[in-house]
Amino acid sequence: MRIGVIGGGIAGLTAAALAQRSGHEVIVYEASREWGGCAGKFERGEYLFPAGATLGMGFEQGGLHDRVLRHLEETVPVRPLQEVMAVHLFDRTVVYDQDRDRFLRELETKFPIEANQIRAFMKEMWRDFETLRPLFERLLALPFRTLQDVLVAVEGFRPNMVAIAPKLYRPLQKTLARHHLNGTVFEQFIDGILLDSLQTGAKDASHLLASVALSIYHEGAFYVEGGLYQLAHALERALRRDGGKALLGRHITSVKRVSDGWMLTDRRGRLDIVDTVVSAIPLEATSQLLDGHDAETFTRQYRRHLRRSQWGTFSLYVTLPEHVCLDRPLFQQVYTKHLPSGHAFLSMSAGDDMLRTEKPERTVTVSTHVDLSEWIDWKQRVVYEKLEHEWTERLIEAVRIGFPDWTGQANIVLPGGPGAWVKYTKRPNGAVGGYAQTPGQALFHAASYRTDLPHLFVCGDTVFPGAGTIGAMTSGLHVARALGVTL
Ligand SMILES: Cc1cc2nc3c(=O)[nH]c(=O)nc-3n(C[C@H](O)[C@H](O)[C@H](O)COP(=O)(O)OP(=O)(O)OC[C@H]3O[C@@H](n4cnc5c(N)ncnc54)[C@H](O)[C@@H]3O)c2cc1C
Repeated sequence: MRIGVIGGGIAGLTAAALAQRSGHEVIVYEASREWGGCAGKFERGEYLFPAGATLGMGFEQGGLHDRVLRHLEETVPVRPLQEVMAVHLFDRTVVYDQDRDRFLRELETKFPIEANQIRAFMKEMWRDFETLRPLFERLLALPFRTLQDVLVAVEGFRPNMVAIAPKLYRPLQKTLARHHLNGTVFEQFIDGILLDSLQTGAKDASHLLASVALSIYHEGAFYVEGGLYQLAHALERALRRDGGKALLGRHITSVKRVSDGWMLTDRRGRLDIVDTVVSAIPLEATSQLLDGHDAETFTRQYRRHLRRSQWGTFSLYVTLPEHVCLDRPLFQQVYTKHLPSGHAFLSMSAGDDMLRTEKPERTVTVSTHVDLSEWIDWKQRVVYEKLEHEWTERLIEAVRIGFPDWTGQANIVLPGGPGAWVKYTKRPNGAVGGYAQTPGQALFHAASYRTDLPHLFVCGDTVFPGAGTIGAMTSGLHVARALGVTL
């Protein structure tokens, strides 16, 4: 079967490489000049910066990235992190340790008053994750759309799952209240962790997905040499080695049903006809490619999802002199009142990572969540530039917290507001990270990879299970499985 994949991010490249390996004839169309989308990179002179995603998960033996890479006979150079990140709250720094026991001891030291409640809370979250593990390992696909989706769930079902069924629609707030942890600094601590992974804070997050988010670093967290773009490159390499086509600079502008399949048209009017389309871009972007009856069918199926709001991001790319980075953790989360979401994430290159720079400097990617309604007038240059300036100052403040010896000296300080995300990743309005994983929007309420249109699939972080390179890869795998791939 001839398959056209729109989007060369992690979701699209996963579906593409796996489908090609299983004998299909695949072409990937990527609008930009880089692979990886939100997990891509860009270069400025002698420096390389990860654009968005920086912290790797799923590379441990048996982890999702590991499974897919092994299947494709590919590797990505990673270093496991014992200390995943340092979280600087206002009055204390908490080290997120990969080892559960050490992490518990750290929590007990840093939150001595609530130590017992925190221990009980974390144990409940980790227990629930362990209960769900067989379903994740079988790559459960929700909401159920086919008998195959149901069979996967049946295979992964264990009798002890019945006990956690009442938590299916429970907000984490309830669990925190039961452990008397509402309104504590610990709640603020997990707020930041959950916002980065579930796109919503501790109050509104789904309990079950929070149990996954609060367990995932203990499965394995990794620094990727150069950056997470290496994952995209490995997938793209596998695709080409198996005879597939991977095309950069091919911005698809319309997808039309024709008598012998789907016709894809790119910005320059070049046409291609394929049997099956995999749209690995946000649902909103897919809806804009379709027209007529197909657009109506698609919009009807995903109408609830298309109405959901998403965060934007403001990123800052900075180079720092080596001496201010010595002894600083590679990953830091910084709390500051200057940021509406409350915190920013700072990722620094390792001192010996020559792929990032050969100079005695580090490249640092900083990102924070932004409410896109604040940027609504961004098409007016003056408004955009003013916002960009304000947010740059806010993130510079965050860098100063993460690197206290930094005097402000930097060869590069480059802002990346929502406009830059539209330009380089084509995310509609600069919205990133998929939908907030609240009980009303996650799991059975998430978007299915299977559309109501024949031979048109969707994947990516707006589709179940959601954001992160693991989430994007999972949805790509669901599509690959529907195309006959077994892993
Ligand atoms: C600032 C930030 C930090 C993050 N940090 C982490 C992290 O540390 N760890 C982690 O695991 N995840 C992280 N994530 C999340 C993760 O990067 C994303 O969820 C994931 O990479 C999304 O992959 P995707 O394939 O769904 O979409 P995308 O990455 O958006 O890829 C879609 C691709 O499609 C292309 N495209 C769009 N429209 C068209 C078109 N019409 N024609 C052709 N091509 C098109 C785009 O150019 C893009 O390359 C972060 C995200 C952001 C924004």
